[in-house]
Amino acid sequence: MTDHYDVIIIGTGAGGGTLTYKLAGSGKRILLLERGDFLPREKENWDATNVFAKNKYTTMEHWYDNKGNHFQPGQHYYVGGNTKFFGAVLFRMRREDFGEIKHYGGISPAWPLTYDDMEPYYTEAEKVYHVRGVRGEDPTEPPTNSPYPYPAINHEPRIQMLADAIQSTGLQPFHLPMGVRLNEGMRYKSLCIRCETCDGFPCLVNAKSDAHIMCVNPALEHSNVTLLTNTKVTKLETDANGGMVTRVVAERDGQTETFSADIVVVSAGAINSSVLLLKSANEKHPDGLANGSGVVGRHYMAHHNTAFIALSGVLNDTIFQKTLGINDFYLNNNDWGFPMGHIQMLGKSTHDLLKAEVGAPALRFSYEWVAKHAIDFWLTTEDLPHPDNRVTLHRDGGITINYQITNGEAHKRLIQRLKDLLHKIHCDDKVCYCNDHIFPDKLFLDRAIPLAGVAHQCGTVRFGHDPKTYALDVNCKAHDLDNLDLVDASFFVSSGAVNPSLTIMANAQRVGDHLLERMS
Ligand SMILES: Cc1cc2nc3c(=O)[nH]c(=O)nc-3n(C[C@H](O)[C@H](O)[C@H](O)COP(=O)(O)OP(=O)(O)OC[C@H]3O[C@@H](n4cnc5c(N)ncnc54)[C@H](O)[C@@H]3O)c2cc1C
Ligand code: SF4
Repeated sequence: MTDHYDVIIIGTGAGGGTLTYKLAGSGKRILLLERGDFLPREKENWDATNVFAKNKYTTMEHWYDNKGNHFQPGQHYYVGGNTKFFGAVLFRMRREDFGEIKHYGGISPAWPLTYDDMEPYYTEAEKVYHVRGVRGEDPTEPPTNSPYPYPAINHEPRIQMLADAIQSTGLQPFHLPMGVRLNEGMRYKSLCIRCETCDGFPCLVNAKSDAHIMCVNPALEHSNVTLLTNTKVTKLETDANGGMVTRVVAERDGQTETFSADIVVVSAGAINSSVLLLKSANEKHPDGLANGSGVVGRHYMAHHNTAFIALSGVLNDTIFQKTLGINDFYLNNNDWGFPMGHIQMLGKSTHDLLKAEVGAPALRFSYEWVAKHAIDFWLTTEDLPHPDNRVTLHRDGGITINYQITNGEAHKRLIQRLKDLLHKIHCDDKVCYCNDHIFPDKLFLDRAIPLAGVAHQCGTVRFGHDPKTYALDVNCKAHDLDNLDLVDASFFVSSGAVNPSLTIMANAQRVGDHLLERMS
């Protein structure tokens, strides 16, 4: 006998977790299906060797590139999804990102809605996720009347020195919008202890604003919300006409179980959601569910990301480094005439982290010396949606990702701009002396091979007006089915160059409103 619910939500990450929170108070019977478990709280959460060298919390799945070579993706299956490990930078996309943008590498297409449509939901998501920041510093900040719910996290002295030096060149560095619950005024009351194991690590003290802590836990306080962990959805079945999802098939503790609901929401992450739709092909949907347009799995994007370490003559004893951002190269208002992207600080490299992530031959100095002198940056450039950049099913039932670089020149230039900037702020008195030195792209997210860095995956089931070219309508309901919706990062039409989570969270709130309307 199949259990019936008002809504089934598949996946508990940024999209699914936020949607559950939004719907929890409605009294509707909601079933949340999550393939992972709760992340164990243990000392290893904060141990670089376990987290990065041993990949203790990363899936052991092997995925394939277009040549059939396999790799271990930087993908996490837990309640809260990838947000359990995220760096907690919570950006709004820029107003311009919602329109068409001409890049050196091609066109970044317009979204079917505007920034103004999304603005109230960004404000709501910032509140739910306790975002800390300061308005008016970031030169590309989109307009809003709402202040950040909490004040920005202060720079530690070495990063303040860097911010001052960058500002002295005429650029406008700003405080990153962050979802960590740090009370700097009353540290004795603060959930967050301002530690060095945040970016890429889970938070042992539950102070990071991840989807598990901020949304799933509070939603579960409502008796109408049920969560089943270790429950991997393997197929969605439809009625004979193919217009409705009638059964959600899942593997749980080695058994097959089935569930049904008036509305089924897929939020398994951009890659896994497209895989689930492709695997659910049937007579009425021969190319995969919701895939009359043929776009499911296509237009995969994940950003061009580079971890960049500058070695400074001045000791960098910063603990929590992820406080500063630079967006002066984000738009096309520069001497090159094209957007280059966004720069933010990375979590501070430590001796352990370097040992786990960077082979000794790559370093000219000892781990200890580098850790004490490194200033770490993360550079992101928009990658453009290309139909052949694509998630497909491998013949062994696994996942293949075919990805060719788009807009690579812009990323090269962004790296060069940062190098030029660091040269410019070079001072002979060694106050802010920096020798730029880039380690291989393996750091953090771009671990073994760049394709494995799937943290910013998006775009595989994009939304838009025309059912011939978009799988989802503007409210993220499948064009081809009456009761199937998606709220993870798969709906993105273009990727912008800021971190994606706040946009996923805001969109989940927006879709939540539409679902409440449909169910009323
Ligand atoms: C190390 C790291 C750092 C990051 N830093 C940032 C940052 O600073 N800022 C930012 O904005 N973003 C950051 N990101 C990206 C961010 O985490 C993702 O963009 C976001 O979590 C995506 O949300 P989602 O809902 O699309 O998918 P996810 O959060 O991945 O959620 C998908 C969920 O679905 C579950 N699932 C998958 N398949 C199935 C299935 N078949 N059945 C049932 N459940 C399933 C998964 O276990 C998971 O819980 C980072 C990511 C990583 C890995
Ligand atoms: S810095 Fe704060 S939020 Fe981040 S892991 Fe440490 S205690 Fe948790």
